[in-house]
Amino acid sequence: MRIGVLSDIHGNLPALQAVLADLRRGGTTVDAIWCLGDVVGYGPEPNECVEEVRQGGWSCVAGNHDVISAGDGDTAAFNPAAAQALEWTRRQLTAENRDYLAALPHQLVVEGVTLAHGSPRDPVWEYVLSVRTAGDNFACFGTPMCLVGHTHVPAIFRQANGRATAFAIAPDHPLDVSPGRHIVNPGSIGQPRDGDARASYAILDTVQGVVVHRRVSYPVALTQEKMRVAGLPGRLADRLAYGW
Ligand code: ZN
Repeated sequence: MRIGVLSDIHGNLPALQAVLADLRRGGTTVDAIWCLGDVVGYGPEPNECVEEVRQGGWSCVAGNHDVISAGDGDTAAFNPAAAQALEWTRRQLTAENRDYLAALPHQLVVEGVTLAHGSPRDPVWEYVLSVRTAGDNFACFGTPMCLVGHTHVPAIFRQANGRATAFAIAPDHPLDVSPGRHIVNPGSIGQPRDGDARASYAILDTVQGVVVHRRVSYPVALTQEKMRVAGLPGRLADRLAYGW
């Protein structure tokens, strides 16, 4: 089974559409799409992005921006620009899309793979950025693989013989994930933070036992223009150009 692993779309529809076009292209077709949360927040088209997820029938878990946008929780944990975008997103969401986000599970097991937005230990909020944090989290899920997002940085951590290690990620370079256990982050579609502005996602092939990260160019200026028209913070639009 080939699965498109998407995360942190963040209301960026042009980026999501570019990734979906890439998935449909010959040779990279997939049997399913799994989404690791943060469908909304930051970006200018939250409803359109939620509708893609709903209409596609994708398996999806809740991200921190989904939980806060769909509820009335405090935005104080976010920086001022993110908080402003979250409050804007709350006002935009239709009742159906808000209910959909509010009902998302915080963790899922699909086809023997664990899905969480942040980490298996703290599914909505924890960032797995280091080998040490990854190492602690291997005890918190029962499947060979856990897929996470939240950091907006593509990553693969492996646990073998009780020891965790990290792999350097190179797009289009398949990594063998059959030996050991893994925590895999596909990176972010709507707001990459690794210095590469292109949308980031991954393809998991459960038959071959490989993960391939992919990067896809999209019209960044189009998303930025939509953000300006919506009155979203300029800093959030600017950062898309340099992927940080
Ligand atoms: Zn995010």
